[in-house]
Amino acid sequence: MKRVIMIKYGELTTKKGNRNFFVNSLYKSILNKLKKYNVFISKDLSRMYIEFEEKDLDNILKRVNKIFGIHKYNVAYKINTSIDEIKESILDIIKKEEFNTFKVETKRSDKDFPIKSIEFSKQIGGLILKNKSNIKVDVHKPDLLLNIEIRKDFTFIYTNDYCGLGGYPNNTLGKAIVMLSGGIDSPVAAYLAIKRGIHIETVYFEAIPHTSLEARNKVIELCKKLSVYTNNIKLHIVPFTKLQEEIYKKVDSEYVITIMRRMMYRITERIVQKRKAEAIVNGESVGQVASQTLTSMKAINSVTNLPVIRPVSCLDKLEIIDLAKKIDTYDISILPYEDCCTVFVPKHPIINPNPNYCTEMEKSIDYEKMINDILLNIETITITEEDKTEFNDLL
Ligand code: ATP
Ligand code: MG
Repeated sequence: MKRVIMIKYGELTTKKGNRNFFVNSLYKSILNKLKKYNVFISKDLSRMYIEFEEKDLDNILKRVNKIFGIHKYNVAYKINTSIDEIKESILDIIKKEEFNTFKVETKRSDKDFPIKSIEFSKQIGGLILKNKSNIKVDVHKPDLLLNIEIRKDFTFIYTNDYCGLGGYPNNTLGKAIVMLSGGIDSPVAAYLAIKRGIHIETVYFEAIPHTSLEARNKVIELCKKLSVYTNNIKLHIVPFTKLQEEIYKKVDSEYVITIMRRMMYRITERIVQKRKAEAIVNGESVGQVASQTLTSMKAINSVTNLPVIRPVSCLDKLEIIDLAKKIDTYDISILPYEDCCTVFVPKHPIINPNPNYCTEMEKSIDYEKMINDILLNIETITITEEDKTEFNDLL
């Protein structure tokens, strides 16, 4: 019997007028992620079907588990819509399954099929009872739920539905620039942004010689991990040293981080404009450090009118760590190389900065010119997915 992977859309089905756009995007996304396998993908308004070679099933499912926009999926037997063939196949299928209780559920989108869904479930239930001993029907909590979906030409039979990653397909909801440090929070923020269909590019502020090339490599490795969930990721590496040193020299020490972050926002905003993106994403989390109190966020955020999305802003650190482990970025993030924020961190960073005072102090820095120079010297690299099919199982 031929098997196919049946994809269910979930949240995408709420998109009414835009549904085709989302479904087509998911189709492209799946096609792209499975390009090295011999697959054939077809779709209708509620389902997508992946035909595959049996030997590839495990690897394909591991990839399917990393594709946003898939809410549920199963591996279904695909047979002709003929009552005899359906019955014969079901007898074959139940032979392979161990269960004490079961339930049959039929969905009949082909209204020409001569038997109504409930009646057909009853008939199949009777057939199963006759052909397997020591089993009974349980409509509430069956060990085995046998689903039969009858369509015009083909019928699909499956037992378990598995959960996919959910979210929206890649590249369906605009583009944003993620501020990616080598820490734990920002890769998780990036992952959650990708989950909502945002196409991301990343920016990393580098302060060589205060930070090392190892710190840069960490960020590159993080991008590789993230690229599993999307396509290639562009990483813009910003030479931040001169501006950072200038801030360190000219600004009250307790304000160093606040002003540094205002500069980061300013530069990121320029990159957003240049790359035709629409928002900034970062890994700030309320209360985590002095620069992430609400008052600090207000003072820092006031330099841009762009939407700043903070996907982990209301998560506890432990919740963020759990996600980081799940997406396999944690072990990279905890490598010890210092980042530009940690190198310059003052003893007592201010937790309630005054935005007017920030502006006042910034007058002593010719930052517009410095930022223009920085923008001319950004190094951009494109990071592609690691070519290996080793994935954590997210099921
Ligand atoms: P993370 O928050 O990712 O664990 P972190 O703790 O070093 O790293 P914070 O000081 O909490 O970073 O900074 C908050 C956010 O600011 C980061 O999550 C990231 O989005 C951004 N950020 C900080 N430093 C950098 C940097 N060097 N390059 C790019 N973005 C940065
Ligand atoms: Mg942090």
